[in-house]
Amino acid sequence: QKPVPSDIVISRSCVPKPIDRLAMEVGLLSDELELYGKTKAKVQLDIISRLRAQPDGKYVVVTGITPTPLGEGKSTTTIGLVQALGAHMKLNVFACVRQPSQGPTFGIKGGAAGGGYSQVIPMEEFNLHLTGDIHAITAANNLVAAAIDARLFHEATQTDKALYNRLVPLSGGQRTFSPIQINRLKRLGIEKTDPTTLTEEEITRFARLDMDPDSITWHRVLDTNDRFLRKITIGQSPTEKGHTREAQFSITVASEIMAVLALTSSLKDMRQRLAKMVVATSRSGQPITTEDLGVSGALTVLMRDAIKPNLMQTLEGTPVFVHAGPFANIAHGNSSVLADKIALKLVGPEGFVVTEAGFGADIGMEKFFNIKCRYSGLRPHVVVLVATVRALKMHGGGPTVSDCTLYIKNKKNLCVSVNMRKQVENARHFGVPVVVAVNAFKTDTESELDLICTLAKEVGAFDAVRCSHWAEGGAGAVALGQAVQRASEAPSDFKFLYDVELPIADKIRIIAQKIYGADDIELLPDAQHKVELYTKQGFGNLPICMAKTHLSLSHEADKKGVPTGFVLPIRDIRASVGAGFLYPLVGTMPTIPGLPTRPCFYDIDLDPETEQVNGLF
Ligand code: ADP
Repeated sequence: QKPVPSDIVISRSCVPKPIDRLAMEVGLLSDELELYGKTKAKVQLDIISRLRAQPDGKYVVVTGITPTPLGEGKSTTTIGLVQALGAHMKLNVFACVRQPSQGPTFGIKGGAAGGGYSQVIPMEEFNLHLTGDIHAITAANNLVAAAIDARLFHEATQTDKALYNRLVPLSGGQRTFSPIQINRLKRLGIEKTDPTTLTEEEITRFARLDMDPDSITWHRVLDTNDRFLRKITIGQSPTEKGHTREAQFSITVASEIMAVLALTSSLKDMRQRLAKMVVATSRSGQPITTEDLGVSGALTVLMRDAIKPNLMQTLEGTPVFVHAGPFANIAHGNSSVLADKIALKLVGPEGFVVTEAGFGADIGMEKFFNIKCRYSGLRPHVVVLVATVRALKMHGGGPTVSDCTLYIKNKKNLCVSVNMRKQVENARHFGVPVVVAVNAFKTDTESELDLICTLAKEVGAFDAVRCSHWAEGGAGAVALGQAVQRASEAPSDFKFLYDVELPIADKIRIIAQKIYGADDIELLPDAQHKVELYTKQGFGNLPICMAKTHLSLSHEADKKGVPTGFVLPIRDIRASVGAGFLYPLVGTMPTIPGLPTRPCFYDIDLDPETEQVNGLF
């Protein structure tokens, strides 16, 4: 077999079709398209009302077994599968994937456009700025952060009356409230619209948010793996008059605004979500929102283009929506609801939309069902679970060897199937048929690949097929496409894992026990306090977004296979009220990654003669 060139060499060897031509092929109207150069376009949301009556296509989610740090090929399989279904089986298809963070692109893992002959192209556009959505999120997030600290400062240095006069300034001899301020008055129970009629007590209540600085949960963000920002002290310039505070940065793709973008269903809904985000608690225990800070309208303005899905294409010319990119371990790990909804209409009832849920099935898939599907109302037809020999070998090493159900002739403790069995079972909890895609690497042997397929069927998969789309493109995933098509016609009985009305700790326990295999959970003091606070504040009925390592079913990355006999420690819980979930932090999970000694950026450069990007993978 010919060696497979690097991802960027393959990507560049293919001339993408003009994006407006692809748009017409998939049924978009020229008025619905906003071109960003020749290979990317944004799609306006009006299309949703135009296609309202059109029945949806089949909905497929790609997930995986617990991966190695290198990734087991979910993105590659997502793209290979749509190339197979679209270019080879001649069905209408769409892939809906996340926009990658520049953290991993320049850090350890590289890009996320797929790989080999199954990629989104041009991969450098996909992996770098795309159409600026992540930059918009960074700008919006940091505007909130600036608003919080400026407000703390102004409240600390001004009297109530002075604050009020500045918040409701004289203009043309009159003071008037802005619409956002009228909303705040209503929430405070002050039914007045004339600023001159507020009593002194009402002026104080209106003007002072009285945020408790220790309760601030809003972090600044950056889309760079800059670990030295994990804890910082802000306000050290003399101009801030000693108002210093310990603060933190997270990576942009873990921010609540990214989750809002991924989960929103319309511009109006996004405006409401961007207003509901809780940034802190007041000293009297009230939640303080972005609407209280007066910033929610400006956030919507910053996000108004980001809400439109980005159209790109695969190496074989099938359409792809790239939209939103929350990390899966510290965020909810799924691309946008809007892109999926538009794509399902565009492909029509016989077509397929394939989307990817980040990391293993215990992480991205659980959140896909319990968070994304709960908000979107969409019900998937098939789960594709990607497995590799290398990851199964990893799970087979070490102390779990005695549990192995699989040895092969060379006696290398190869491919313990326990992790695959558990992840198939995790998918089956939701009542959807599972097709295992065994992503073949050139180092795998025939007998290894066959054995995994046999075992996958034994452990409850609807079907299991080996695929070679990385080396062969869509042609290497036709068997997978056929299996997915068959599975999409099989009966399914979708159900959520938990009822959102259950107490917070019960929901976390259900995920920990049923999905991770924990004996129980332990709420550490900060988490216990948050359970009480969020229940009191009325946020107890939100779904749960666990922030947990993706490298193990448990909270300890080095525990492979299916760890047992552990209690899951919940260190703290945060509320993303605008996005619509509570997010428990399991163990110590940094919310901004770091750079290794030799990051990917060492290889990345621009050729000034050809203006080509080199070294991305
Ligand atoms: P995931 O989405 O599961 O994190 P990716 O699809 O991004 O994984 O793949 C991770 C890396 O592995 C990419 O660099 C990709 O090109 C490479 N890869 C995927 N499948 C194969 C394969 N069958 N053979 C060789 N490399 C592969």
